[in-house]
Amino acid sequence: MRIDILTALPRLLDSWFGDSILQRAQQRGLVDVCVHDLRQWSADKHKRIDDYAFGGGAGMVLQVEPIHRAISYLKAARAYDEVVYMSPDGVLLDQPLANEFSLKGNIIILCGHYKGVDERVREYLVTREVSIGDYVLSGGEIPAAVLCDAVIRLLPGVLNDGTSALSDSFQDGLVAPPAYSRPAEYNGWKIPDVLLSGHQANIDAWRHRQALDRTRQRRPELLDPPGEASQTPLGDG
Ligand code: SAH
Repeated sequence: MRIDILTALPRLLDSWFGDSILQRAQQRGLVDVCVHDLRQWSADKHKRIDDYAFGGGAGMVLQVEPIHRAISYLKAARAYDEVVYMSPDGVLLDQPLANEFSLKGNIIILCGHYKGVDERVREYLVTREVSIGDYVLSGGEIPAAVLCDAVIRLLPGVLNDGTSALSDSFQDGLVAPPAYSRPAEYNGWKIPDVLLSGHQANIDAWRHRQALDRTRQRRPELLDPPGEASQTPLGDG
């Protein structure tokens, strides 16, 4: 998988991709993340890529020309499955969407800034618009980093234990059960006995019950999505 990120602030993303799981994934050749400074496609001698909004109003707008040139440059080199624009009014990022993106080959992610991008970018160049939540950030870099992290950790070989991502929250429509590590007793605080029983079937059943209870308490809408007939995934354990 190859991800090309177009941004006005490339340095913001360098540390994100230069560390931890994301760096390892790149070193192992499982994903190639290329961060591009949109300014290199500016036609302006001062390398500007933003301008005032037609019709007035506060806030600058990222111009269509440098973005079009950047996307055309990338597309001349290889085919892309999606051109994603990170946008607060896009489709809300969730685990199924991350799963879907993890099956793609090459994607371009465009980070907006200021008031956003010239609308013609969205009309003519972008194929998907993704939001990371109902709040407004000052730029698309953190949203792009969030999308990349959610997607890259799903690629086979990225997590040391390939089954780990499958047991995370939302993969099976439930939030994750609690996890404990050594020591089994600390400061008088004990872990549940079943985890020390060595009986894997009982442990699995306990985890499933915990996940179900937690989902009921914290995210009941995952069990009964609005507009759908009442259903409980995987029974009651
Ligand atoms: N005027 C726009 C907000 C622009 S915020 C509006 O009201 O919708 C500047 C940029 O930050 C956006 O272009 C987008 O790329 C990014 N951004 C901000 N909040 C975001 C969110 N919740 N999800 C995804 N991208 C976001």
